[in-house]
This record gives sequence, C-alpha cells and structure tokens, in this order.
Amino acid sequence: MADALIEAPERVLSTLNQDGTRRWMRPRPSRGTFWKWRRPVAYGLILLFTALPWITINGKPAVFLDLIHREFTFFGKTLLPTDTLLLALLAIGIALAIFLVTALFGRIWCGWMCPQTVYLEFVYRPLERLFDGEPGRRKPAGNTTLRKFLRFVVYLLISAFLAHTFLSYFVGVENLRAWITGSPTEHPIAFLVMAATTGLMLFDFGYFREQVCVVVCPYARMQSALLDRDSLIISYDKARGEPRGKRGKKHKAGADVSLNVITEDRGDCVDCHMCVTTCPTGIDIRDGLQLECIGCAQCIDACNTVMSKIGKPTGLIRYTSQRAVETKKARLLRPRIVIYPLMLLVVGVGFVSVLSTKAGADVQVLRAPGLPFNLTDAGEVSNQLRVRVTNRTDAPTTYTLGVAEGSPVTLMSDSLTFTLEPGQQTSIPVIAVTPRDAFVSGVHDASLTLTDGADLWKDLPYRLLGPATGASQ
Ligand code: SF4
Ligand code: SF4
Repeated sequence: MADALIEAPERVLSTLNQDGTRRWMRPRPSRGTFWKWRRPVAYGLILLFTALPWITINGKPAVFLDLIHREFTFFGKTLLPTDTLLLALLAIGIALAIFLVTALFGRIWCGWMCPQTVYLEFVYRPLERLFDGEPGRRKPAGNTTLRKFLRFVVYLLISAFLAHTFLSYFVGVENLRAWITGSPTEHPIAFLVMAATTGLMLFDFGYFREQVCVVVCPYARMQSALLDRDSLIISYDKARGEPRGKRGKKHKAGADVSLNVITEDRGDCVDCHMCVTTCPTGIDIRDGLQLECIGCAQCIDACNTVMSKIGKPTGLIRYTSQRAVETKKARLLRPRIVIYPLMLLVVGVGFVSVLSTKAGADVQVLRAPGLPFNLTDAGEVSNQLRVRVTNRTDAPTTYTLGVAEGSPVTLMSDSLTFTLEPGQQTSIPVIAVTPRDAFVSGVHDASLTLTDGADLWKDLPYRLLGPATGASQ
C-alpha cells in the first residue's frame, strides 16, 4: 500500500516528510545569549499566566472572562455585554497594538511570549530532553519503556495543572477550588470539562506541538500583511554567508588545515546545519523569511557559537530588517509607525473617557409581552413594562424607580425600590398607568427616572401606547 503513495516533488511543510508522514522535531537547544534572555522571560510569564486569575484588584480577579454570565473583568473593571462601545474599542485597541508591535518587532510575541512557545520550549521540551536525552547525544541509561511512561505521567500532571490554570480564567478561582475539592460525582460536567481540557493540553504539548504555529495559528498567516521591509526579523546575511560550504584544506603546500581557515572563495557560512537542527519548526532560515519562523532566535545563538569557533564575527544570522540586510541601511520611521500609535491613542482616549463616564447602573425599559395597553375600570390606560437594571458599582446599591416631576404617569410595582449587589442584574415588572387624555394620536412620551439617592439620576424616556382617539373620546 505504501508503494502506491506518490511522493511530493518537494517538502510541502517543514513538519511533514515528503511521503506525508510526520517529521518529528527534536531541536538541539542552543544556549546562547538570546536563550539566556528568553529563559527568565519565559519563567516570569509562566508565573504571571498562573497568578493572574488569583490576583485581585478592587475585590475582583485581575483577569476573569466569565463567558457564562458574559462579564469580562480586566484589572478591576468589569465589562458587560451591554458595553458594546467599550468592547469594540478594546478589540480595536488590541488589534492596533498587534499591528504596531508586529510592524516594529516582527514576531517577537511568537518567539518570546506566546504561551504555546513558552510552555513548549521551556517546560515540555526540557522535560523531554531530561527523559530521552539531548538530541544527537547518547540516550540516558535505563529502561526506555519506563522512561517513556514516566515522561507521560509528568506530562499528564503538568497538562492537568495547565488546564486548571487555563480554566480559572473562565470560571474563576472560587469555582475552580470547588471543582478541585469536590468529588467528580458532585460536578460531573465540570469534571468532564477539566478532563477534556487536560487531554487537549496533553495532545497539544505532547504530540501536536510546533504544528500549532505552522498550520493552525492565524497570526503566522497575517505576517506578510503586518510586516514591512523595515520590521525587525531574524535573517541570514546572504551577502556575507554565500557561497556557503565546508572548510577544507588549503591547496598550497604547508597550508593550515584547520577548519578555522578560509581556504577557498567562500562566504562565512560553513554549512554546518546547526541553525537548522536547532530550529523548533524545522526550517532553514538561509532560505529567507518563512511563515514557519516564530522568531525564537535559536538559529542566531547556534550560528553565533559557530562563528565564534571559527573566528568570524557573530551576526551572520541576526535580528535585522529586510532593508538593512539588502542595503545596509535601517529605517525606523515610516508611515505605519506613525499612524498606528496615533490611532491607538485615539482609541485609548475614547476607551478611558467612555469608561470614566459610565453611570453607576445600566438601565433598559422594555415592553412586556402581551397586549400593547389595557384600559382600567377607571378609564385610565395601563402599559406593562419591564425595567432591567444592572448595578455597575462595586458596592450594594439601592435604586428607586419613578417618573419625572409633573408627569401624569403613575408607576405600580411591588418593588419600585430595590437593592442590587455589585454586578447584579434584575428585571422589575412595572405597570405605567396614565390618564387617557394624556395620549395624542395613540402615544404619550413619558419620562421615567432611576436614582440611587446619591450620585445617580437617570432619565428614561419611553413611549407609552394608548387608544388612538385619546383625549377626544
Ligand atoms: S549555523 Fe551559521 S554557519 Fe552553520 S549552516 Fe547555519 S548559517 Fe551556516
Ligand atoms: S528560523 Fe530561527 S528564529 Fe525562526 S523558528 Fe527557526 S530557529 Fe527560530
């Protein structure tokens, strides 16, 4: 059957062999300068990712994305689904920030900060090397099956921890605590969610790995639009490196046969493949900027070590820009570097001003289902309404519904005065009773009010319906 497979004329994906089978990556770590910088950044971020749901600001989690109640808390401020403008400004702000950071620093997020890279390169792969040995070196002594089993158990435990951390952003740490301390039979759905998330983490970091960056992540696909010729990228200096080739003996008699000596008309690249074997996505950066490059700088570290060994200046592969490599001239200032920050500033100012002018309550007056109006025995017109109120403050607040001074409308309800906890929402059924002669052409524009007796006073204009004949009847 395997004979029937047609091999691709060239490699389609860096993670696939030409016959379509998985090409397993076992990158050889290059522990150079960038690696040494990336490591504390990565462990700091892991600490931050883990701690964020536990940190409280104004009595709220630093980050809590409560999908069930559709409330999104960021650093002490909660946004509700009714905050359409704020949520839109936030989304635009995040998108603009991504555009700006990518235009300036290329895929610095992918290589240095993305949780996929951080956990894979600084948790799972080091563990893999611990159990299976360094790539290209002898395997550690001992029973291979036992080592594989132990590795799986450790992966499973870490994946379970990650799954709990991940879910705490969406369910909150209190719910998580209850899930953990309670029996699975008390929370069967929660247990299944947790088990499935752990399974997904294990699948991702234990099996799927770099393919997330290569075939799933949309950000990689957007980079050609987001980068320009002046963005910071990791690039191989072709002019300096080519023609590449291994160093050989000098042809002249008595020549030095050391590898450190350039013997022919060659560039600085000794074609040692160290930059390829260290690449976590399996590409050769000498082929130019590629979608698969996550900007991890491992190839820089690998090549710098080689250059130092052969007595050449480091930086054959380096952080630079396409323009700088081609013309030796870097250009920082360009239109998008000015336009993105300006747009970001406008969006930021808009966001802060909308947020700071938010009232202490969200109120909506809605018509109750059923007839548009009724006539009472006393000949007045009644409209059935529902007034939905959400407490936007951080303290329990008592609200009172009423009508504007001089209004002919009378409100009837069991609870015109009510107290709401922070973030709580309620829907109050209200009947608005209006003299018939207040209606003109079947409508009366009433003004309802809501107050908390202190800072909050809201006018709630609402069109009541009545008989078309109104006062004349
Ligand atoms: S590590 Fe440097 S010298 Fe070695 S193949 Fe890569 S670019 Fe060439
Ligand atoms: S090419 Fe270099 S920077 Fe890009 S992913 Fe591979 S090792 Fe990392």
